[in-house]
Amino acid sequence: MSQHEWHAETLSVRAGSEQTEFGENSEAMFLTSSFVFESAAHAAARFGGKEPGNIYSRFTNPTVTMFQNKLAALEGAEFCVATSSGMSAILACVMGLCSAGDHVVASRSLFGTSVQLFSNILKRWGLETTFVSLSDADAWKSAVQPNTKLFFVETPSNPLTEVADIASLAEIAHQAGALLVVDNCFCTPAIQKPLALGADVVVHSATKYIDGQGRCLGGAVLGRKDVLEPVYGFLRTAGPTMSAFNAWVFLKGLETLHVRMEAHARNALALAQWLEQQPRVERVYYPGLPSHPQHELASRQQKSGGAIVSFDVKGGQPAAWHLIDSTRMISITANLGDAKSTITHPATTTHGRVSAEARAAAGVGDGLVRVAVGLEHIEDLKADLAWLATTD
Ligand SMILES: *Cc1c(COP(=O)(O)O)cnc(C)c1O
Repeated sequence: MSQHEWHAETLSVRAGSEQTEFGENSEAMFLTSSFVFESAAHAAARFGGKEPGNIYSRFTNPTVTMFQNKLAALEGAEFCVATSSGMSAILACVMGLCSAGDHVVASRSLFGTSVQLFSNILKRWGLETTFVSLSDADAWKSAVQPNTKLFFVETPSNPLTEVADIASLAEIAHQAGALLVVDNCFCTPAIQKPLALGADVVVHSATKYIDGQGRCLGGAVLGRKDVLEPVYGFLRTAGPTMSAFNAWVFLKGLETLHVRMEAHARNALALAQWLEQQPRVERVYYPGLPSHPQHELASRQQKSGGAIVSFDVKGGQPAAWHLIDSTRMISITANLGDAKSTITHPATTTHGRVSAEARAAAGVGDGLVRVAVGLEHIEDLKADLAWLATTD
């Protein structure tokens, strides 16, 4: 049976692995910056591209290559470029695919640092970005300009779990002669496969569910080889490459991706259903709930609702902070993608630098709380949030 016929769970465990002459069962970690050659002619052949092989770990490293091949198999991508963080994956993607004078249409509900990257830094280098509502197809269409190169979206969105229709955005992008880039960090290929839905490029923060246990920073860009050649070129020259150590951690993380994502989603759905019943909860945002406005689209596009649950607590910021401070187990941190559940108040943390009007327009209210549901027992999670069940 070839790798192409394996099921996703098997690809997680087996794809991309290669053995050295020692026959190790766990992948080797190649902590070496450079590689040696047999002769001057051999070195010249490698450098000239006449013979494949490693030269220097900024270009390629065997542990990083194994990670790239495993993630590519999972996303159904021809090519994968690993990077030092999720942000450098997004930067490399844009630096490889755009030039000064180009234009990007991006979802308004991106990860906060991605918004900063487009609106502050890339703007200084001559790249203009128009931000639109991720679920408004007409807004994407009318934002298109003759110089539009990329559509950039994240789905489900953070923190309100709005869902973008990947297939229809891909169609709009292609009609405009642009490429659709999807940040697939929240779902991972265990839940959603954007390339199969028509997206051209997937970016990841491997820091989140690909690691799964909050240890390392990393990222990846995936898609067709001809499309991503300039992205690899940027990385090889500018240098935000993934370290061999981090690649090894992510290789181990990917082996358990499917069982983890199923357990995360099972806990998240159970918590979301419980939250809907609690007297101190105004509204719950989770794509796996029938009450979610895009539940039908999410059910078509995703295998599950994922691990992120947000909800409005009655009583605004004081009540939201009271809830957060009443927890004894759940980690108070804005990070996500960890076995440990985390809780955050978006209005004063991740969205704290956004103006009050913009926050209100985005639906991020003062009572909104986001939980990235981890792998603890569901009854212990409910017990830690028990204040929501009280009435006086
Ligand atoms: C965390 C995150 C990033 C940035 O990744 P880093 O690894 O922290 O650089 C990008 N997109 C999304 C959706 C994220 O959650």
